[in-house]
Amino acid sequence: MSGLLPRPKAVPTKRLLALGIGLVLCFAAICVSILWEMAQKDYQHAKEAATNLIASLASEVDRNIELYDLSLQAVADGVKLPDINKISPELRQVVLFDRAASAKDLGSILVLNAAGDVTLDSRTLTPRRANFATYDFFRVHQAHADAGLFISAPWVTTEGEYLISLSRRISNDDGSFAGVVAGSMRLSYFHNLFRKLNFGPDDSMVLFDTDGTMLMRSPFDINKIGQSIREAQVFKQFPARTSGFYTTKSIVDHVSRLYVFQQVGHHPLLIAEGLSLDGIYADWWQQFWLIGAVVAALGVFSIVLMFYLLGAVKRRADAETQLARLASTDALTGLANRRRLDETLAVEWRRGLRARSPVSLLMIDVDHFKAFNDTYGHQAGDAVLATVARCIAASTKRVSDLGARYGGEEFSVLLPGIGKAGAQEMADQIRNQLAAFRTGQHELPTVSIGLACITPGAEHTSHDLVQAADLALYEAKRAGRDRIIVSPIGRERPTPRRAA
Ligand code: GH3
Ligand code: MG
Ligand code: MG
Repeated sequence: MSGLLPRPKAVPTKRLLALGIGLVLCFAAICVSILWEMAQKDYQHAKEAATNLIASLASEVDRNIELYDLSLQAVADGVKLPDINKISPELRQVVLFDRAASAKDLGSILVLNAAGDVTLDSRTLTPRRANFATYDFFRVHQAHADAGLFISAPWVTTEGEYLISLSRRISNDDGSFAGVVAGSMRLSYFHNLFRKLNFGPDDSMVLFDTDGTMLMRSPFDINKIGQSIREAQVFKQFPARTSGFYTTKSIVDHVSRLYVFQQVGHHPLLIAEGLSLDGIYADWWQQFWLIGAVVAALGVFSIVLMFYLLGAVKRRADAETQLARLASTDALTGLANRRRLDETLAVEWRRGLRARSPVSLLMIDVDHFKAFNDTYGHQAGDAVLATVARCIAASTKRVSDLGARYGGEEFSVLLPGIGKAGAQEMADQIRNQLAAFRTGQHELPTVSIGLACITPGAEHTSHDLVQAADLALYEAKRAGRDRIIVSPIGRERPTPRRAA
């Protein structure tokens, strides 16, 4: 017995789950994009701050070099004055050497003749005997009239002081080489300059020349002075660009940093500030973990809530299905009730109409049941009804067959797609089943069955089928009960069949 069982209400669990997870993912994606924006901003701010800082540092260094260069140029021009050697050494010293050149981090200015011998010293009237002919700066000026201001690689004095030399050529009026004026700048100047700045623990500031020789670095390490950083990424941009930025792992201490660099004026010097990425993103990471934790907690909470709600919806749907099942089932026999029979008949009738397939109906009535009740009591009567129902249920095996309690001691069996012969077989089977029960229970009453089979069409309604089966049942009663009568609809006349 089946036929139009109330279908369990399908809860679209997967769709709801996908929707819920989709919402959580959307929320997470928004948070990720906000975090991404924040990280970009932190990077941008760090870059701008570093750009401003090295711009002001570069301009300070440039200004000092410029001033010192002016002093060197003044000496280079002064030594060519025709009367300069006629005045007293004291006066010559005052005329040639500007006081600005005696500032703290600047060394003495030396005038060298064409042979490289020291002829004048800004700090003393009796210059030491020394020759610089083999020094790089001397050779450069000797060879190139247009070398301009030459800044040397760092070198260390016998007293252990690190210096760079700044020098200019002295030319005769005909342009021939007359010597060199050379001064020096202590690297401590840059050390002091860098020391005033506030750095993060992993940040760095580097001054280096265009050959890649490191002149000063903060954090300070004496061993790093003079080290070559020719391989540094800055030389992929310089000299094509005189300022720029890039992110890389330091070749000096392997810390990942954002580097911003700038050339110092037009001099062969570069300043680069390196801001450690860990430092740049330190605050961002805090916010990341905070927001991440909140998003994760909300996500977990939403998913748990969703599962709970889905469970509740499913329980409710199951309860409704169960209720609907109960509402369409007869309590005493467990068969479908009249309501479900009517609904199923309407559906199957339409299906038969479309498929042009027959619909059969058995109307089954217990014979002399009133008398049985009167003799054995209502409880025994109920037991009989349950037995008849069991026989009907055992015979209606197809999904589309429907056994129902029509009312009182009357039952119906709806057989969609079954012709008269099949319906007769089914009726026989029910009666046989009942007969089998009767062998052990002699007082079990017999049943009369009216059978009708109609192929739905314009000339008949489902009501006609019920009426025909009912008439056939009436005919069976009239003919003496305990038999099957097939309705004449579709036949010339009713065919009485005696019980076996
Ligand atoms: P017939 O052979 O002509 O069908 O005679 P009958 O006595 O079976 O028919 P009738 O319609 O006169 O009596 C039907 C009886 O069925 C009356 C009623 O007491 C009994 N009945 C109806 N429903 C139930 C029920 O749920 N339980 C019991 N025990 N008896 C029922
Ligand atoms: Mg009856
Ligand atoms: Mg009866």
